[in-house]
Amino acid sequence: MATDTGNEAPASLASHKHRQYAAPVVAAEADLDLLAGLLADAARIVAFTGAGISTESGIPDYRGPGGVWSTGKPPTLGDFLANEATRLEYWERRRTGYREMAATEPNAAHLALVDLERSGRLLGTITQNIDGLHQKAGADPNRVVELHGTSHVVRCLSCGTVWPALEIQERLERTPGEPRCEVCGGVLRAATVLFGEPMPVEPLRRAIALAQEADLMLVVGSSLVVQPAARLPAIAKQAGARLAMVNREPTPLDPLADLVVAGDAGRTLATATELALVWEPMRAYGTG
Ligand code: NAD
Repeated sequence: MATDTGNEAPASLASHKHRQYAAPVVAAEADLDLLAGLLADAARIVAFTGAGISTESGIPDYRGPGGVWSTGKPPTLGDFLANEATRLEYWERRRTGYREMAATEPNAAHLALVDLERSGRLLGTITQNIDGLHQKAGADPNRVVELHGTSHVVRCLSCGTVWPALEIQERLERTPGEPRCEVCGGVLRAATVLFGEPMPVEPLRRAIALAQEADLMLVVGSSLVVQPAARLPAIAKQAGARLAMVNREPTPLDPLADLVVAGDAGRTLATATELALVWEPMRAYGTG
C-alpha cells in the first residue's frame, strides 16, 4: 500500500496559545437544511476531520492564525534524529505547553459527531488531528482512526515502548531536557507522524476501508492539501458515497462535493445534526 511522505502533522501541539480566527463564518440557512437532509438520508456516515474542527476549542490549525505555518515549521524526522538541539527544543515546547493542550475541551462540532455516532448513523471518524478531542467528546475510541497518531502517547523510537504522555510530562517537569527511554536509552517522541515521515499503514488501511463503506463522507475543517489523507474524499466518492464539506475556506476538492458549506464547524454541525436527528424524523412522520 502506498504511503506517501510529506504529510505535515506537527510534532506536537504543545506550543499553541489559544489564538483563534477573529470573525465567525456563519453558514447560510439553506446550506444547513441541505446538510441536515444529507445527514438524515445517510445510514453510513464517515467523518473526515482536520485541524479546523479544533480551532473553536482553542487549538490553532496549521495555516490559520497562530498555526505552525506562521510560528515555525515542525522538525523533519531526519532533523529530529540527527540533532540534539532540535530534540531539546521539541521537549522544551512540550514541557511548557503540553498540559495546556491536554486541558482543551471538545467543542460543539466534536459533540455533534458523537450524537451522530450514538444515533447509529456514523460508522467512524477519520482524523488528521493529534489532539484526542474526538475521544474526549465521547466518541467510541474504536471508531476513531488517527491518521497522524496522537500527542497523548510517547514512544521510544528504538524499542517501541510506549508511555502515556502525562508520565513523560511529569518526568520533564522534574528534570527539563531530553527524556530518554527508561528501557533501552533510545530517543523518545510523541506518537505522531513527523514531517517527511511515511504514514503508518494500519490507520491508513482502516481509513480507506471506512471511506469505501461510507454512504456519506462528511469533511470538517480540513484544507485537504495534506497527502495521502486528502485522497480519502475521492475514494469515498468513487465508491458511491455522497460528499459534504464544512469549512471556513474553499478546498481543492470542493468541485467533487455534493455540498460545500462555508461555515464554522461548531454551529454548523450542531444545527444540522439537530435538524437531521430531531426535526427530519418528525417531518417524515408527518408525511407518512
Ligand atoms: P489545515 O490547517 O491545513 O486546514 C484547516 C482548515 O480548516 C482550513 O481550510 C480552515 O479554513 C478550516 N477551518 C479552521 N477553523 C475552522 C472552523 N472553526 N470551522 C470550519 N473550518 C475551519 O489543517 P489540516 O487540513 O488538518 O492539515 C494540517 C495538518 O496539521 C494535519 O496533518 C493535522 O494533523 C495537523 N494539525 C493538527 C492539529 C490538531 O490536532 N488539532 C492542529 C494543527 C495541525
